[in-house]
Amino acid sequence: MFLKRAAALTAAFLMIIHLCGCGAEKEQESMVFAMDTVMTMRLYGGDEELMKSLESRIKELEGLFSVTDEGSEIYELNHTGSAELSDDTMDLVARGLELCRTTGGALDLTVYPIVRAWGFTTGEYRVPNEDELRELLKTCDHEKINISGSMVSIDEGMELDLGAVAKGYTADVLTAMVKEAGVKSALLDLGGNISLIGEKPGGGSWGVGVRDPFSEENIGVLRLSDCMAVTSGSYERNFEQNGRVYHHIIDPDTGMPADSGLASVTIIGEEGTLCDGLSTALFVMGLEDGLDLWRRMDDFEAVFVTDEGEIFITEGLEGSFDSEHSYEVCRR
Ligand code: AMP
Ligand code: MG
Repeated sequence: MFLKRAAALTAAFLMIIHLCGCGAEKEQESMVFAMDTVMTMRLYGGDEELMKSLESRIKELEGLFSVTDEGSEIYELNHTGSAELSDDTMDLVARGLELCRTTGGALDLTVYPIVRAWGFTTGEYRVPNEDELRELLKTCDHEKINISGSMVSIDEGMELDLGAVAKGYTADVLTAMVKEAGVKSALLDLGGNISLIGEKPGGGSWGVGVRDPFSEENIGVLRLSDCMAVTSGSYERNFEQNGRVYHHIIDPDTGMPADSGLASVTIIGEEGTLCDGLSTALFVMGLEDGLDLWRRMDDFEAVFVTDEGEIFITEGLEGSFDSEHSYEVCRR
C-alpha cells in the first residue's frame, strides 16, 4: 500500500549519498523514500553509477505497483478492470498469487477495498460496520483474478494491492543487480525488508535486530548472511478507537485486523517476495498454522512473537538467535 502522501514526501526527502573510502572497499550509502517507507542501501564496493541505477529501479517499480499513483499499472487495473502488465508487475502478481494459494488465502492480493475502508490508505482511520465489511468481503477473492498472457482482469468492485509483497520483490530485483555488479558485501533495508548480501565487510555474519513489538527495544538479534529477513507486525501501522487498537494486516476471512495471537512474525529465506508474502500471511494464520506451513515447506525459517510476548523460533535459526529473553525452539 503506497500512500499519496508518499509522493509528496518523496520530493522533500532527497536521496543522500555518502561516499567514503573506509576499509578495503568503498562504502556508499543512499536513503530513498519510496513505497511509503524509508529505504536505506549500503554498498561495500560498486560505484556511484550502480547506486543511481538501484535508486531509479526502486522508483520505476514504485511507479508500476502503486495503488494511488494514477500512472501505475495497478491503478489502471483497479480503475478500468483490466490492464496489460509489464514483466515486473506480472512476475509479482503471478508470484503473489502462488503465495495466496500456498497460504490458503491468508495472503490475498484483493484485500485492498477492505484496507481502504479502514482508512489505512489515507490515514483517515475508521472502523467499518459489519454490513459494510460483509459487502466488501464479496470483492475479496484472489481466485477471481484472471490472467491471460500479459493481460490481467478483475471483477467489478475488486481491487489489487501488492503492498504485502512489493518490497520483497524490490529486494529481490536490487539484490540481483548488486550481485551482478560483483559487489560482495551490501545491506539493503527496504523498510523492514532486509537483504543481506554476502557477509559484513571484513567477514562474519550481520546482526539483524528483531524488534520487541511492545517497546522500541530489540527482543533479540539474528546473526545472518546472504539472505532476506522480513518482519510484519501489528505495531507497524495502527490506530486506537474506544480503547481498542486496530492494525493494518487484515484477515481476508473476516475483514477485521488479524487477531491470531501474534504481535509480529519475521521470516528468513533466500527469496524476498516469499519472505514478504509469508510474513504477512503467517501473521494472519497464527503460530500453529504458521508452523504447519513451515513444516510443509523447506525454504524459510521464522521468529514469532505472541501477544503475550512469548518468542518462538524455528529450528533452522538455532545458534543464530541471541536473546536475553527465554524462547522456544520449534522442531519439524
Ligand atoms: P506487510 O507490511 O508486508 O505485512 O503488508 C501489509 C500491507 O499489505 C497492508 O498495509 C495492506 O496494504 C496489505 N494487506 C493487509 N492485509 C493483507 C492480506 N491479508 N493479504 C495481502 N495484503 C494485505
Ligand atoms: Mg509482507
